[in-house]
Amino acid sequence: MGISYTAEQFSRALRAITPSSHQLKILRIHYSYVEKDITATQLAREMGYSNYVTINNLYGRLARAIGEALGIKKMPEIRLKIIVEFEKRNDGWHWIMRPQFSKAIKKLGWEDKYIDASILPNEISESLEYAEGARKKIYVNAYERDRKARDECIRHYGWACSICGLKMESVYGEIGKEFIHVHHIRPLSSTSGKRTINPIKDLRPVCPNCHAMLHRKDPPMSIEALKKELI
Ligand SMILES: [Zn+2]
Ligand SMILES: [Zn+2]
Repeated sequence: MGISYTAEQFSRALRAITPSSHQLKILRIHYSYVEKDITATQLAREMGYSNYVTINNLYGRLARAIGEALGIKKMPEIRLKIIVEFEKRNDGWHWIMRPQFSKAIKKLGWEDKYIDASILPNEISESLEYAEGARKKIYVNAYERDRKARDECIRHYGWACSICGLKMESVYGEIGKEFIHVHHIRPLSSTSGKRTINPIKDLRPVCPNCHAMLHRKDPPMSIEALKKELI
């Protein structure tokens, strides 16, 4: 796509259309990924779809509506290119939200940090099973969901919980092997705008129980504070 649009144009277009709740979720999930970089498969998994066909459909239709609101006469063959840049990597096609488009989302406040628990990946939603009020919308740090950062964190700290020291494997055997949650130790509110995530400084592996306990407070407790609570 040769033409590019400003954040102002995008936000006007977004205001003119009415995305479905699923489309809004897609936007929010995409927005929450580091560098606004996601694959169709990741997006499908986050949405709980078994494959990316539905994602292509929903996101494509949204892009088309935006294109129409922008007054694009000649739509690109792949409508999504209006709002997303495509990049081919080893693990397939990556969708990177156009910076002006993501600015528009922020401008409109559509990047809501309250994400419905039903669409969360296992990391948080599982820990929520332990928490009260699991159906409530919860304060989620989107960065916890970034897989690259997660991998680096675990490579550094290992698979034991940073709070209680538990290795899931030691309780559950084989099935618990290489399973751990990763907690982001900065509250989301302090990471607005351009973020730089440091997997060693900002992330800690924690077991699902400790993770749930951290999130009993909002903003979450510090690792140190919860350690002191251990009996
Ligand atoms: Zn623990
Ligand atoms: Zn957490």
